[in-house]
Amino acid sequence: MSRPDTAPGTELARELAAALRGEVRFDPAERTVYSHDASNYRHLPLGVVKPADTEDVRTALALCRDHRVPVVARGAGTSIGGQAIGPGAVVLDFRRHLGAVLDLDPERRTARVQPGTVLDDLQRAARPYGLRFGPDPSTHSRCTLGGMIGNDSCGAHSVAWGRTADNVESLDLLLADGTELTVGGPLTPAERTALAARPGPEGRLHHRLQEFTDRNLAAIRRGLPALPRRVSGYPLDALLPERGHHLARALTGTEGTCALLLGATVRLVEEPRARALVLAGYPDETAAADAVPALLPLGPLTVEGMAADLIAALLAAGPRPPALDRLPEGACWLFLETGGATAAEALDAARRLADTVRRERTATAAVVTDPAEQRQLWAVREAGAGIVTRLPDGGEAWPGWEDSAVPPERLGDYLRELRALLRRHGLRGVPYGHFGEGCVHLRIDFPLTRPQGLPVFREFMEQAADLVVSHGGSLSGEHGDGQARGELLPRMYPPEVIGLFREFKHLWDPENLLNPGTAVDPRPLDADLRFGGRPVRELPLALPYERDDGSLAKAVRRCVGVGKCVDPTTGVMCPSYMATGEERHSTRGRARLLAEMLRGAGPLPGAGALPGTEAPPGTGALPGTGALPGAGAAITDGWRSAEVREALDLCLGCKGCASDCPVQVDMATYRSEFLYQHYRHRLRPAAHYAMGRLPLWLRGAALAPGLVNAIGRSPAAPLLKRLGGIDGRRALPVLAPETFTRWYRRRRAGRPAPAGARPVLLWPDTFSDHLQPEVLRAAVEVLEHLGFDVRLPAGPVCCGLTWYSTGQLPGARRVMRRSLAALAATGLPAGTPVVGMDPSCTATLREEVPRLLGAEGRPLAERTRTFAEFVDEYAPDTPLPQLPVDAVTQTHCHQHAVLGSAADRRIERRMGVENRVLDSGCCGLAGNFGFERGHYDISAAIAERVLLPEVRAAGPDTVVLADGFSCRTQIAQLADGRRALHLAELMLRALREQPDGPGPAPSDAPTP
Ligand SMILES: Cc1cc2nc3c(=O)[nH]c(=O)nc-3n(C[C@H](O)[C@H](O)[C@H](O)COP(=O)(O)OP(=O)(O)OC[C@H]3O[C@@H](n4cnc5c(N)ncnc54)[C@H](O)[C@@H]3O)c2cc1C
Ligand code: SF4
Ligand code: SF4
Repeated sequence: MSRPDTAPGTELARELAAALRGEVRFDPAERTVYSHDASNYRHLPLGVVKPADTEDVRTALALCRDHRVPVVARGAGTSIGGQAIGPGAVVLDFRRHLGAVLDLDPERRTARVQPGTVLDDLQRAARPYGLRFGPDPSTHSRCTLGGMIGNDSCGAHSVAWGRTADNVESLDLLLADGTELTVGGPLTPAERTALAARPGPEGRLHHRLQEFTDRNLAAIRRGLPALPRRVSGYPLDALLPERGHHLARALTGTEGTCALLLGATVRLVEEPRARALVLAGYPDETAAADAVPALLPLGPLTVEGMAADLIAALLAAGPRPPALDRLPEGACWLFLETGGATAAEALDAARRLADTVRRERTATAAVVTDPAEQRQLWAVREAGAGIVTRLPDGGEAWPGWEDSAVPPERLGDYLRELRALLRRHGLRGVPYGHFGEGCVHLRIDFPLTRPQGLPVFREFMEQAADLVVSHGGSLSGEHGDGQARGELLPRMYPPEVIGLFREFKHLWDPENLLNPGTAVDPRPLDADLRFGGRPVRELPLALPYERDDGSLAKAVRRCVGVGKCVDPTTGVMCPSYMATGEERHSTRGRARLLAEMLRGAGPLPGAGALPGTEAPPGTGALPGTGALPGAGAAITDGWRSAEVREALDLCLGCKGCASDCPVQVDMATYRSEFLYQHYRHRLRPAAHYAMGRLPLWLRGAALAPGLVNAIGRSPAAPLLKRLGGIDGRRALPVLAPETFTRWYRRRRAGRPAPAGARPVLLWPDTFSDHLQPEVLRAAVEVLEHLGFDVRLPAGPVCCGLTWYSTGQLPGARRVMRRSLAALAATGLPAGTPVVGMDPSCTATLREEVPRLLGAEGRPLAERTRTFAEFVDEYAPDTPLPQLPVDAVTQTHCHQHAVLGSAADRRIERRMGVENRVLDSGCCGLAGNFGFERGHYDISAAIAERVLLPEVRAAGPDTVVLADGFSCRTQIAQLADGRRALHLAELMLRALREQPDGPGPAPSDAPTP
């Protein structure tokens, strides 16, 4: 476990560091990263503690109590109300080390978990027994049981399996004064008496709780309306005798304000063996809402509502998911899931529901039984939760009123009036939600970044609160109150109940140490907003941020803390988080650091737009912002920030976030900007000169490859690596004896293009040209076989990626311009397709070249194709050589993010290749990243997560496919010498193995 990194002078930090086994971090970077949850609020904590075990929690709490420093417990920080952050508090991160499923009893159907257990981990543990935890928030891949208990989370299946409160059996608690106790329920009168008779603080607490309950029975019965999703306020009704005096339930949903949770015993439910999905279409959302009460008696597992504007938002954010074709006609849909012991049983239930739906004249219904299709449709619904942070037209939408709930039979009326209220305020949003329980999610385009925005926000919130209460509803249906709704509780509850909340909290936490300012005596809803109604300072920028009106501040605001980037199990995003488990090495951690940098930036010496470019519209310091920068910020040195540099240092630039984050936070781009600005007119790290300009060095080295290779193997190699900023454990790449371009010219001289062959330009990327020419040679032979005249640019070309990714933006632009000139000089028609063999170069030509060169670069982007895309598009009917082999594919992260792989899959099918695509994400090398000193361990750890074990396990006859130079290099260096092939090489092999194929070519001499 790492040793503490504490700011000097912080006595508490020193004591914590001395006493704990877990991490203690009071530095600006860590405080910044933990200053947000998924809400509109920002609170800089005093520091962050990641307890290694329960003993650490006890010690940390005791020391904080001694110093009178508040404590905020935290799981994944996906709360939307601001209840997982606290000003000047010590944040206890339970997710980092306290995430074990301690015990699972299939007979009793219970599990004992630590508070930091991620829900999906519990589900994985329960699955072999046919069991699961019922509630399932959309954040299931990262949210913790502690956080779910803190918020009383629900999710889509609560119509069938209830809220978290309905599924807790007992909670192990640590109170602010150090008392530990386990609470549960239901309790018999005798059990209550026995508890109150216990010695010491525990007995005293039970005694007081019982006295509190008995004294207030009438007020609690009167003041807390019965409602399936009443999550706002404390659930004091669980204390009532008719509710079993259930203390665990009364504590569920108290948002870390009463006690710290050390462990929990939760109930599990039977997982239906089969499921079916009814998609019910309605002309509008009120029609859908009005239909719900008639459907509930049929026992669906879910009743989720989603309107056409959510689909529009989804389509605005990315390509159309094919699953959408299954939606029947309508403008609002209900997702009604059914379950059964067999597929027939689930289908029967689905048919019954569909028939009932169709009885309504304007409604349509479709039944989906295929599990894969059902998964895709649910993914659409879950993606919606993240996507609606942006409106279909790209406008920003914020939480606040994102979680109200009414009795289901009032939902139609409530939605109608809510829409009218939005219109009156000139606000927009996209409602969707758990219609079966009357819960509506709605992010609204509150003008929070404008000075006049705060009164609008407050007025709307107050009127919406009154509206929901007038329908017998709750301010929150599952997200909890936090700072967003705490202040509004008196609009929902009478003063006597508000008084009871205060008294209840005081019984548990008399010194108000735990999450103060939440639920009881809450902070105002329009205080501490992360934008605070202030125009955010803009800096002169080098890159255009075309999707964000030229604003980096707006670009980083995309991150609303959905937290998909801290799901460590799947996808490309975010490899550095997956390997380190550290928040600051996640996409959201980096986004928060950049946002803090922009918030705190003073005058920025040396900052500027790229020479020779206009500062993009909308940038430049805004008038009237002079006094704002730096106010209360943890990072105040702008582009010079060492904290931001450190956090970005482990960003691989893999672009995984640009495609996998629901709102496409594009950290690779922000990183290039930062590196450009940070090192402007300053000495850069050696690796930037060595590897950032590698194409130049390679061109020189190609004059004497044998000599260069010999030096690379000589005793001077370690020194060379050190000088070049290369990790000593990395083997230096070996230069080919003959570059591809020389081979091509030699070959071409003796072999003119066949008549009628269609010209295509092959992009001889620097790495393949010098280091793996066999890939480009294979492309030439295959493309010629398919009837093309393969031509090369008239001079050396380079996409400029190594300059771009190291923030050497002027250099990148020069290199790109030179390459455009070399393409133009071929004299080929302007539309001649360009085929790139390496996905990172190809993605650069598609995305970064137009980004840096504007209109000048767009034509190249438009005519650039990957090898597979080219064959798929330009030779769609040409028979391809057959090779019925098994293959596993490592998809390059840039291909995943920018180019897509649909064409590759079609080509493999046409060749008869039985392929399996690995869910391995980035290979960990990512261009120069894995070579740089200080990155080896993390690079290897990323590769070891999935890629290397899969490659090692692949049988000797299984082909390993990897179009990326980086991926092939990583495999060659770390997977025990296994060689991966480019698709073009596989196709060449297929060609050669054909009875009438060309056979081994002289050009195929192995490269040393
Ligand atoms: C995009 C998106 C979709 C969402 N979808 C849903 C949904 O479908 N359904 C739903 O119910 N919610 C949803 N949420 C809200 C949120 O994800 C859930 O409330 C989740 O359960 C919170 O878990 P967490 O681990 O992130 O908790 P955190 O946000 O870290 O903490 C939640 C609360 O619990 C307290 N807490 C955490 N650990 C402890 C502990 N050990 N001791 C005492 N208190 C503790 C915290 O102080 C805080 O008050 C969504 C959020 C987002 C951003
Ligand atoms: S970077 Fe994207 S996925 Fe990660 S928290 Fe922010 S919005 Fe969510
Ligand atoms: S570019 Fe890759 S490593 Fe960097 S933040 Fe995005 S997903 Fe993470």
